[in-house]
Amino acid sequence: MADKRDYYEVLGVSRSATEDEIKKAYRKLAKKYHPDVNKEPGAEEKFKEVNEAYEVLSDSQKRANYDQFGFAGVDGSAGGFGGFSQGFSSGGFDDLNDIFSSFFGGGMGGMGGFTSSRGRNANAPRKGEDKLMRLNISFMDACFGKTETIHLAVDEQCPDCKGSGAASPSDIETCSTCRGSGTVIQQQRTAFGVFQTQGQCPDCRGTGKKIRKVCPRCKGKGYERKNTDVEVNIPAGISSGQQLRVQGKGERGYNGGPNGDLYIEIYVQPHEKFEREGKNIYLEIPISAVDATLGCSIDVPTIHGDVTMKIPAGTQNGKQFRLKGKGVVDIRGGKEGDQICTVNVRVDDNLSRKEKELYRQLQELQGTRQGESIWERFKKNFS
Ligand SMILES: [Zn+2]
Ligand SMILES: [Zn+2]
Repeated sequence: MADKRDYYEVLGVSRSATEDEIKKAYRKLAKKYHPDVNKEPGAEEKFKEVNEAYEVLSDSQKRANYDQFGFAGVDGSAGGFGGFSQGFSSGGFDDLNDIFSSFFGGGMGGMGGFTSSRGRNANAPRKGEDKLMRLNISFMDACFGKTETIHLAVDEQCPDCKGSGAASPSDIETCSTCRGSGTVIQQQRTAFGVFQTQGQCPDCRGTGKKIRKVCPRCKGKGYERKNTDVEVNIPAGISSGQQLRVQGKGERGYNGGPNGDLYIEIYVQPHEKFEREGKNIYLEIPISAVDATLGCSIDVPTIHGDVTMKIPAGTQNGKQFRLKGKGVVDIRGGKEGDQICTVNVRVDDNLSRKEKELYRQLQELQGTRQGESIWERFKKNFS
């Protein structure tokens, strides 16, 4: 390894490449040079080189070090194949999809799931993945809160074997193939020397254990799928996009680890009349030109019921009135919101003959005439 190629050059990306571009380039090259696929001389070296480059460039800290100090910043060997242990074994893959689904953790977390399992014991208990679901609730339920029952299928640890999958603790023995480590070292001889890879033990599938007699209740799975009803307390004042966490109702854990959590993302359906912004409610109230001119008293709907509101004489279109405390509870425990009513003055275009007559009299009284300059009118009526 006297003259190593620049990592960016290896992956064929620019120095300003995004994480995504790096990941894409890596996947393409790893697929091309994978030793199970590519038997050409030099392919394995290329594969190693590509992995080393990816190992550094996919890690923002290592990438920054590399950008600043070159190879010296990332300790020469940079892990090489060490980082490749989970799920990698040469031979036994039927096609490329298999290779990639085991490399990339089935797609869910992309490379995230893969890198995060680095350096961890393959058979140590691990918490399961979190699950996310969306829940639609009505506008009013969001304002006042609600207890919602959610039906879920959750994998729960088998109570008989406590997740071990064995009929009794004495039925569990250490895997002889990997001596309990869950991983095996495989060697391939090539023209370039011995190529060593670490992979999951094929006999115990990485658990490090073998079960002589399986638990009759769960048939060795260690868990049971259960349909459960979960009561979710939706607090008053919740908004769209906020998430509620339900502990332990996510995906099942690995090797007896606890389940992940369930996150419920709330979606609040819109209301036909009210609009909500945080803890305030907005409502448009239509009133006639006559009511706006002379003032009136009207019943205004609020989420807490109708409220009688006085519109003073001479109210202009667009004026806002605040009904204090008629908004939504503050989810953080502060003061409750208000309802803000915006006056929308509507001009009546369907007058009766009598009304028309009265308007005409008004028009005459105010001295408005056809063909009058608008400036004249401003002066007369509004100054
Ligand atoms: Zn084993
Ligand atoms: Zn069991």
